[in-house]
Amino acid sequence: DSTHFGYQTVKTEEKESKVAGVFHSVAQQYDIMNDLMSMGIHRLWKRFTIDASGVRPGNKVLDIAGGTGDLTAKFSKLVGREGKVILADINSSMLDVGRTKLRDKGLVQNIDYVQANAEYLPFEDNTFDIVTIAFGLRNVTNKERALASMYRVLKPGGRLLVLEFSKPEHEIINKLYDFYSFSVLPKMGELVAKDGDSYKYLAESIRMHPDQETLKSMMEEAGFEHTSYKNLTDGIVALHKGYKF
Ligand code: SAM
Repeated sequence: DSTHFGYQTVKTEEKESKVAGVFHSVAQQYDIMNDLMSMGIHRLWKRFTIDASGVRPGNKVLDIAGGTGDLTAKFSKLVGREGKVILADINSSMLDVGRTKLRDKGLVQNIDYVQANAEYLPFEDNTFDIVTIAFGLRNVTNKERALASMYRVLKPGGRLLVLEFSKPEHEIINKLYDFYSFSVLPKMGELVAKDGDSYKYLAESIRMHPDQETLKSMMEEAGFEHTSYKNLTDGIVALHKGYKF
């Protein structure tokens, strides 16, 4: 059972421990690097995701690979006192940074933090109205297992939103973007976060991630219906959506 990692093919357990290493290493500077590397545009992609989720007061939301909690913070305000948001992440450093940030913002009432692997979600069947995973699925080793697990924990009528890097629609953007991710990003990571290797991993994981149509089919395989996606910023990022009925 092997998977592609970085510039070589390595075993599944190795991918897991490398991903863990990357996020332990970037956690403290994750937010500032996100703003810098996306020139702030990740905020718009996340806003779009919240708007597309159809979240309502009282909803139960699971934000998987929630990291430093950008989506969780927005959902927390929208679900209100009657609702609940669970920020789940496999990485304790990312969870710590997220928890501290959200508590500093005064968001305490309706958020729980759970350390969990997307492939083995520790929740009952049919629990959530909305499940989100933003910039997380590409880091997961067994994506089919993770999608099946998300399907299981959604209530009938509930929906999954996957926000992830994808394939640019235009070749010229593709080329520019490749140059940016492989030449500029690792240098930025080295200079600002003193961690070029982690940012090299991020660039490579983006290139290896399934394109729009492939991910849509994978969601259908896992049982999702009415699946669709919307390209954002020429498809550099795509938001996939699917329902459990
Ligand atoms: N969702 C946040 C955002 O959009 O800013 C954080 C995204 S960050 C690029 C990816 C996150 O996925 C990290 O916090 C990492 O720990 C988490 N992650 C990686 N593999 C995971 C897995 N198998 N299960 C759950 N979380 C995972």
